Amino acid sequence: MKQFDVIVVGGGHAGCEAAAAAARVGAHTALVTLSAEAIGRLSCNPAIGGIGKGHLVREIDALDGLMGRVADAAGIQFRLLNRSRGPAVRGPRAQVDRAQYRAAMQSALAEISVEIVEGEIVDLVVERDVTAGVVLGNGQRLRAAAVVLTTGTFLGGVIHLGDRRWQAGRMGEAAATALAGRLKERVALRRLKTGTPPRLAASSLRLRDLPAQPGDEAPVLFSALSTSAPLPQVACAITQTTPETHRIIVDALHRSAMYAGHITGVGPRYCPSIEDKVVRFAGRDHHQVFLEPEGLDSDLIYPNGISNSLPEEVQLALVRSMPGCEAAKIVQPGYAIEYDCVDPRCLDPTLEMRTIPGLFLAGQINGTTGYEEAGAQGLLAGLNAARRAGGGGGITFARDESYLGVMVDDLTQNGADEPYRMFTSRAEHRLLLRADNAGERLTARGDALGLIGPARATHHRAWQQRKAEAVARLGAIRVTPNDVVAHGVTMNQDGRRRSGHELLAHDGAGWPLVDALDPGLAGLPADLREHLLAEALYRPFAERHAAEEAETAAADALALPAALVDAAIPGLSAELGEKLAMRRPATLGEARKISGMTPAGLALIAAHVRRLASQESRAA
Ligand code: FAD
Repeated sequence: MKQFDVIVVGGGHAGCEAAAAAARVGAHTALVTLSAEAIGRLSCNPAIGGIGKGHLVREIDALDGLMGRVADAAGIQFRLLNRSRGPAVRGPRAQVDRAQYRAAMQSALAEISVEIVEGEIVDLVVERDVTAGVVLGNGQRLRAAAVVLTTGTFLGGVIHLGDRRWQAGRMGEAAATALAGRLKERVALRRLKTGTPPRLAASSLRLRDLPAQPGDEAPVLFSALSTSAPLPQVACAITQTTPETHRIIVDALHRSAMYAGHITGVGPRYCPSIEDKVVRFAGRDHHQVFLEPEGLDSDLIYPNGISNSLPEEVQLALVRSMPGCEAAKIVQPGYAIEYDCVDPRCLDPTLEMRTIPGLFLAGQINGTTGYEEAGAQGLLAGLNAARRAGGGGGITFARDESYLGVMVDDLTQNGADEPYRMFTSRAEHRLLLRADNAGERLTARGDALGLIGPARATHHRAWQQRKAEAVARLGAIRVTPNDVVAHGVTMNQDGRRRSGHELLAHDGAGWPLVDALDPGLAGLPADLREHLLAEALYRPFAERHAAEEAETAAADALALPAALVDAAIPGLSAELGEKLAMRRPATLGEARKISGMTPAGLALIAAHVRRLASQESRAA
């Protein structure tokens, strides 16, 4: 029987990052998937990143993961979203060539020593309640100290198209039904759903007659290691639904799989189907649709905005009711898919299942939707699976450290009643968690964990060096009143001249002056300049956060007397009282980590400890 340290089940975004992370930290890793040729396939839209999602890709990249590099290699249109808003919420996004993305992901994996096994996993090997391996459809067993399940939309997958439905993981690919059946015996599963639009033949559309949406002139790439976008860049075309489209949809609603009641799973609120949009926003007479090329050598167009589960003839009519699409040919119809996933509250923040040690879950199976969410979880699960196999402790990421930390905390604490996708608004520390500082936040930590390869380590050191030099020069810049008048940059209110940092913080308006005063800074790479600007802009928030952290650390040091946990604490809920008695935390910091503990609960505990201390000192 073959023995590995880590077995990753699934070759989607979560699986690729999980296997790569486990292998990077030295684990003997196998990636088992239904189809080796489909590894890295994009199930739905040919695009990576966006607002919040782009931040996750930068974080994966900062930890030396694959998604950023692969997207840069396959990118055919790069756009920085939210450009008109503050740097903290700008999100890099790329339209990618679907075939090139898959090829680049497969070559990236081939460079890392991951053993690819093609086959269906039908069961887990669990010995004395601990994960010990997997069982393949042909009966073969593979042993490992840790298994990462990343089964995506394949677990119990059912495709819905009008009133037809059949078992499948994705169009043309089999579902993982046997594993779903076996898992149900160990953990409660529930249903979620998602959908995809029809794919159109580009040659059947009047793309040239429609408004074009080009990419940015200077592409903003995902990976710190990428120097340029190697593929030719293309534009998308923009069309829209019409009142006629909406009439067609409304008339056929009873034939939509979702509206006819065939689907019970909850769908992604932020990626609604066109049926949903037409019903929910009945007052609107059009919705924008982006016609996105699927690749440089592909005749396929992905019409972003019209995912649906209507019968094929209705899909054709609705597509043909949009400008530029009057003679459209549908190459593959849109469809909805329902699949099994778990309630992620059954996981530790390491993504290990509490009731089955050694079993880690990542991606769609945890109730998330999206490539980037899956990739980031995969990296964490792969790292922790490798550490479990190698005897290391679990690794978690904090909410003020990364979007990955925010996502995993949201999932494991609150669960996901509907498919969870990342937004910058989910991060309360979003001014600190920017796409421009992902490397600063995570690469050194990744290095200490063994995740970072030599190329990134060298690049990161060089970046830090350049930044230190630039900061030293900026700090040394002195601005004379004449400079200020000449460039229209005002003094501080107290009449002090602005420092170099303060100039940068003025919405970039200070850059020309800084450049004039020190031409050396004009030579800085654009990403470093943007980073310095964002850092200067958000410095007051960073300082306030650091002060709050110091306060929390001081409060957390408060020792809890052993007797306290058995005493009734006035105002504390019975549930928290029981948890205290069970976990017996030695400090307030340990009590903070108890699941379900609230700030109000902590305040009551701290007040009670102080009351006891003052009673004791009065008695003494
Ligand atoms: P997947 O990419 O699904 O990969 C799962 C992998 O596991 C596959 O390689 C499969 O072969 C393998 N596998 C599964 N079971 C087994 C088994 N038993 N044995 C061996 N291998 C197995 N996301 C959005 O953000 N917005 C959308 O609108 C959207 N629409 C979608 C529409 C459709 C029709 C589909 C299919 C997906 C859609 N997605 C959408 C979701 C997106 O594709 C996923 O979020 C993302 O792919 C999840 O990545 P993953 O790694 O978890 O799983």
